[in-house]
Amino acid sequence: RRRNPNEQEFHQAVKEIFDSLVPFLAENPVYRKNNVLERMIEPERMITFSVPWMDDEGNVKVNRGFRVQFNSALGPYKGGLRFHPSVSASIIKFLGFEQIFKNSLTGQPIGGGKGGSDFDPKGKSDTEIMRFTQSFMTELSKHIGPDTDVPAGDIGVGAREIGYMFGQYKKLRGAYEAGVLTGKGFEYGGSLARKEATGYGTVYFVDEMLKDKGLSLKDKTVVVSGSGNVSIYAMEKAQELGAKVVACSDSSGYIYDKNGINLDLVKRLKEQESKRINEYLNENPQAEFYEGCNGVWTIPCDIALPCATQNEIDDTSAKILVSNGVIAVGEGANMPSTLEAVDVFLNNNVLFGPAKAVNAGGVAVSALEMAQNSGRISWTFEEVDAKLKEIMKDIYSTSMEASEKYGDAGNLVVGANIAGFKKVADAMITQGVI
Ligand code: NDP
Repeated sequence: RRRNPNEQEFHQAVKEIFDSLVPFLAENPVYRKNNVLERMIEPERMITFSVPWMDDEGNVKVNRGFRVQFNSALGPYKGGLRFHPSVSASIIKFLGFEQIFKNSLTGQPIGGGKGGSDFDPKGKSDTEIMRFTQSFMTELSKHIGPDTDVPAGDIGVGAREIGYMFGQYKKLRGAYEAGVLTGKGFEYGGSLARKEATGYGTVYFVDEMLKDKGLSLKDKTVVVSGSGNVSIYAMEKAQELGAKVVACSDSSGYIYDKNGINLDLVKRLKEQESKRINEYLNENPQAEFYEGCNGVWTIPCDIALPCATQNEIDDTSAKILVSNGVIAVGEGANMPSTLEAVDVFLNNNVLFGPAKAVNAGGVAVSALEMAQNSGRISWTFEEVDAKLKEIMKDIYSTSMEASEKYGDAGNLVVGANIAGFKKVADAMITQGVI
């Protein structure tokens, strides 16, 4: 805390890891001897830069850009870029820190990184987005590359932004380095099923948790927060597996449709028209809209999938979910539950899937995109989806086994943290003090 003052989200992410690792570190002194945890908490590199750009009226603006290159023990830094006004050093560091363990869990050769800007894409024209992303990439391009650091999307960064950034990188380098970014359009080196991967992977993971208890998604009532990339494809897969999704949200509020969410309509509103979620009611007047985000957790459900942003479920919301009989919670977003909320779930026998395991499908398919780019090949949707499903199963079993081995059977927070940590820590020790 002394070295990283005012970085509340980063402290929260680090505390969770510390708490999980206590018994493991006590049993394995080699990690303490090599001071691995303390080395892991210090980013290998943190880059902060200015992003000047001009709006459509000719006004000159400036935002702050970030890239944290946290840990490269397992491979090139890998992690998304977030454009949202709340972005700060603390947010980028918590995301980058989590990414180290998540990427390790995927079994793919990727290190941990993250980046973004406090730029707010809401209400900006297409040309403003293009000018901003080009300026952002002008600086970022000095620090990334297919074997160095490979960014992707996150909140506020989708296929359009990746396309503009890729174009600018190509122009600056004078070379076509397809593997420098993932989440690209299919026509220029993107992977099929990358768009769906985080949401689908989230539901594959939840399905594994349920199966282990002899349960399934069939006929379960599901509440999802957000209506962005992760949420939409989590809803799609949950519906495909027979669940009824009754609610989703955006930062203005949430909709409740007791007949089940019409996903085609949500996709059109969000992916094509950039509309607010309350517009859903124009075509489905039987649905209800409520302002504010937290209320979405008051809707009774069997399965809750927080897929919007950090700390969106506090202990009050967690207690309401429990009293309404929630069976399973799968974190599609990064750190959506506060530490207190996680305790509420674990103390009430809710099947709880932590973000770094549950939402790892996105970065796993990004690593598959890198592999396809290196081999100059392209796999079918079915091939990528099958690999994703296998990876999610593996992450579940690896995390479960680690929880059993280290004395907290069934606690996937502890299991995922230990399994993710061990692989990175072993690689760091093998590579020496550098
Ligand atoms: P998108 O920008 O596509 O969607 C984000 C959604 O969450 C939108 O509906 C947005 O509403 C809502 N939201 C964002 N910020 C807030 C906020 N402060 N309060 C309430 N609602 C908010 O992002 P993604 O779907 O890509 O990302 C969602 C989460 O999943 C993030 O935590 C991200 O880090 C995580 N994640 C994403 C991966 C990916 O592959 N995309 C991979 C792994 C994790 P509005 O439009 O009104 O802002």
